[in-house]
Amino acid sequence: MENRKDPLLGISMERAAFFFDIDGTLAALQETPEMVSIPSHVRKDLSQLSKQCGGALAVVSGRPLSQIDQLFNPLVLPAAGIHGAEWRDLQGVVSRTSTDPQTLKRIEQRLEQGIKQLPGVVLEKKRIAFALHYRQARAWSHQTRELARTVAEEFPGLALQSGKCVAELKPASIDKGVAITRLMQQNPFNGRVPVFFGDDLTDERGFKVVNQLQGISVKVGEGQTQARYRLHSTDDVYAWIKQVLEPRIRQSPPLRSVQNGTVSRSF
Ligand SMILES: [Mg+2]
Repeated sequence: MENRKDPLLGISMERAAFFFDIDGTLAALQETPEMVSIPSHVRKDLSQLSKQCGGALAVVSGRPLSQIDQLFNPLVLPAAGIHGAEWRDLQGVVSRTSTDPQTLKRIEQRLEQGIKQLPGVVLEKKRIAFALHYRQARAWSHQTRELARTVAEEFPGLALQSGKCVAELKPASIDKGVAITRLMQQNPFNGRVPVFFGDDLTDERGFKVVNQLQGISVKVGEGQTQARYRLHSTDDVYAWIKQVLEPRIRQSPPLRSVQNGTVSRSF
């Protein structure tokens, strides 16, 4: 493979492993999760990037694999879905964390009961996780988070994951840090330097793991973060990918360090 270097990051395609969150990172946030889409030119660029780095490109999302595949269609990428509760390697082998169905039913009933008092709040069932979306019922944000917190306390092994207009309940044993660690143990990720882009609280565990591995952690948007670098928006992520693919085009916004310094590192 040709040894290509990104002029901004000095990324060698043979040594990098890319991880992308979806919502707020590769796709602009919308009023409902169903309205979210990834532009076709971005899917095309990601396909190209995946080829150039020998397939070491994965999606790490709170969405289930089924939704991830719909969003990336026709691309089928290695992925960790439901924050890592299900994952697929480069060969397409899918593994899933399991939880007792009776317990899941009880959690579901408890949440359904709770949101009856919160009109506009939507319960999304994700096989072994539950998301309470309140983007269209922001007046209930506090009550929604309280409901999720209370239910998390009622069921051992369940953890609350807050996000942008969403309160999620998922197995405590999984998070995006675990998901990235697991993928990094497999080929072709193994031994490479992780580069992870994410925008929300759920991505912070991923940033932490990536930092520990001396990788590049990139927060998309504003807000406190453990990530070492930052891009402003999904459009900047698109431009950054383009720049890595076509190093001679120098239009993309530079990755800023979180301290607003200039990024100059190579590996
Ligand atoms: Mg996100």
